[in-house]
Amino acid sequence: MLSSRHYDIVIIGGGLAGLTCALNLSKGGKRIALLEKYPYPRHKVCGEYVSNEILPYLRSLGTDPFAIGAVPIDQFRMTSPGSQAIQTRLPLGGFGISRFRLDNYLYELLQSRIDFFFGTINSIEKEDTRYLIRSSGGLIWETELLIGAYGKRSNLDKELKRNFIGQHSPWLGVKGHYLFDHPSNRVDLHHFKGGYCGISKVEEGIVNACYLVNYSVFKAFGSTDHFQNEIMGQNEELKRFLDEAKPVFDKPMTIAQISFQAKEPVVKGIPMIGDSAGLIHPLCGNGMAMAIHSSKILADLVHEGLAGTDLHRAYGVSWKRAFGNRLRAGRYLQRLLLNPQTNQLAIKLARKIPGLVPAVVRKTHGEVIVA
Ligand SMILES: Cc1cc2nc3c(=O)[nH]c(=O)nc-3n(C[C@H](O)[C@H](O)[C@H](O)COP(=O)(O)OP(=O)(O)OC[C@H]3O[C@@H](n4cnc5c(N)ncnc54)[C@H](O)[C@@H]3O)c2cc1C
Repeated sequence: MLSSRHYDIVIIGGGLAGLTCALNLSKGGKRIALLEKYPYPRHKVCGEYVSNEILPYLRSLGTDPFAIGAVPIDQFRMTSPGSQAIQTRLPLGGFGISRFRLDNYLYELLQSRIDFFFGTINSIEKEDTRYLIRSSGGLIWETELLIGAYGKRSNLDKELKRNFIGQHSPWLGVKGHYLFDHPSNRVDLHHFKGGYCGISKVEEGIVNACYLVNYSVFKAFGSTDHFQNEIMGQNEELKRFLDEAKPVFDKPMTIAQISFQAKEPVVKGIPMIGDSAGLIHPLCGNGMAMAIHSSKILADLVHEGLAGTDLHRAYGVSWKRAFGNRLRAGRYLQRLLLNPQTNQLAIKLARKIPGLVPAVVRKTHGEVIVA
């Protein structure tokens, strides 16, 4: 006898991957539960620049980021201490919207279509073809199709004994919202020793600044203020931002142990979407588009009627085809731009060859995705 918490599909994690997957799958008339740790709305450490590659697809799901205040972005500016800036038009462009607003918008659209439960999931067991999923509060769900959308690092990675989770990752992410005079159609990438900072506008004239830094450089400073003044301030454009921008948050948000290790898109029969399957380096600015795209790939295969090992095989192949090359390109790009010598060389080259930056952006982005 099935328990009252049996669902056709259970999704763990309600970020962009989980929410858009639920939106797509809810069209199939299946009973869906989405299990998310924290209630909406809430802020997340993220650059909040979304590539346009998923805009037509988002619209096909009945959503419109511009209806909730997204700002269009088509210009890109890159700076480094001691180099002249590069500015160029982005081949595809994108838009700026806070995760606070975007995730909550998708949640509100879904509320009448699927069941949400808030709390931490801490155990997953498989019995024949069925998964038993338990929350820390003792609730249990059962399903034949469990989808992992729980982000880049979670207690569940330990539970599932994934390889990357035992390895130390030196990356620290810091994000805040500010009042600052920044062009609304431009995303900036400012480099500094050990990391880079993305600056762009989100809704209502707010500026989002989010940086990624290697802990080996950060640790000597002990606090974000000290680090920002001493290291980030060596970049003149960042210095102006740090001197003039007025923080909206009481203090910046931080996350540690951000891992860019290769992961598997299917683990113990659980298809992984979004960052649970793999995280691209944030300087590529398309982790969110990849999260949404991977959720579409999986939802389409489920609509086709694939299940069990057929679904796992087809999803694994499609995921690698869609994202394998760009994850690799992202890793090379990060290595190139984080080394001060190759960074300066890259900026010099990009100033001489105007088509270079758009060509590199294309390598780390996909084609526009339609329904
Ligand atoms: C510093 C930084 C800057 C970035 N900047 C950009 C950018 O400008 N543009 C871009 O496109 N991408 C950017 N990214 C990447 C982007 O943020 C991610 O790719 C995107 O958030 C992935 O969405 P997701 O749904 O997979 O994961 P998330 O949005 O992380 O969602 C996962 C959800 O799972 C929940 N969860 C986790 N564990 C459990 C559990 N045990 N039980 C229940 N729920 C659980 C979490 O609470 C969370 O809500 C950046 C990333 C970083 C680190």
